[in-house]
Amino acid sequence: MSAGINASQWPSHVIVCEVGPRDGLQNEKTMFSVEQKVELIERSVEAGAKIIEIGSFVHPKAVPQMADTDAVAKKIKQIPGVEYRALVLNLKGLERAEAAGLKKAKLTASASRAHSLANINKTPEEVVRGFSDCANFAAAHGMELSGAISTAFGCPFEGRVPLEQVLSVIACFREIGVKELSLSDTTGMANPRQVYDYCQKVKAEFPDITWVLHFHNTRGMGLANVIAGMMAGMDRFDACFAGLGGCPFAPGATGNIATEDLIHMLHEMGVSTGYDLDKVLAIGRSVREIIGHETSSFILKAGKCSDLVKGKE
Ligand code: ZN
Repeated sequence: MSAGINASQWPSHVIVCEVGPRDGLQNEKTMFSVEQKVELIERSVEAGAKIIEIGSFVHPKAVPQMADTDAVAKKIKQIPGVEYRALVLNLKGLERAEAAGLKKAKLTASASRAHSLANINKTPEEVVRGFSDCANFAAAHGMELSGAISTAFGCPFEGRVPLEQVLSVIACFREIGVKELSLSDTTGMANPRQVYDYCQKVKAEFPDITWVLHFHNTRGMGLANVIAGMMAGMDRFDACFAGLGGCPFAPGATGNIATEDLIHMLHEMGVSTGYDLDKVLAIGRSVREIIGHETSSFILKAGKCSDLVKGKE
């Protein structure tokens, strides 16, 4: 039996990456205007986001909500020290990102063989090796690349995705020179014990990689998975304002962990994030107003713990 985690092992600071403008808005029926997106991005940075995913450069027919990412990227006022990234699927997307003034792009591949074959008729390894043209383009244009490994824990086609399979995809990303990777639980199937286990092993196997964890709260395990990741030494997590973002295999299901829920939990634990939680909550309220329906954010509904205490003073 392990002795359990030592409290001094909790990180003192955690980086929360805001993915709302991409993962959140792409799942909403409401179409946000370029101006609305730019405002949300700039407010998020104002609230403390140091890494923000502003959209994706994919085919407009595939994801109409993201069709105007070029215009959004050109319009935002980029603040030095903040990383503005977009998701791309191929060289064409990367070229658009570069032309729109972005310095960072995220490539994505599925860890699940069955999912990858069913989707694009290529194995995950073939997909990642195919990104070598993107790696060359990025190097030639002074751009940075990161990689996202979707269905890294579970997949509706094959259930639990074996760690060996995830390691194989990581190795392929490593081969083309990508040194920042996110493990994404796209379908909300990861559990804390699995997260702890996978994180410890990927860190040990690839110590020079910067890791990001991306959890959806589809089955209520999102924040528990964050804790498990922190216990394994992870300190970068994606989250989405108001908890938007669904699950591609479960229409109507809860989306990403909410930025305000994650920041609230971390601050309650004495872990700093650099965010002003009240500003993050105000963004969540604005988003909720625009989409016109409740979201899965807990803190938007319940308020902060400290709100209660203040009321009793
Ligand atoms: Zn996601």
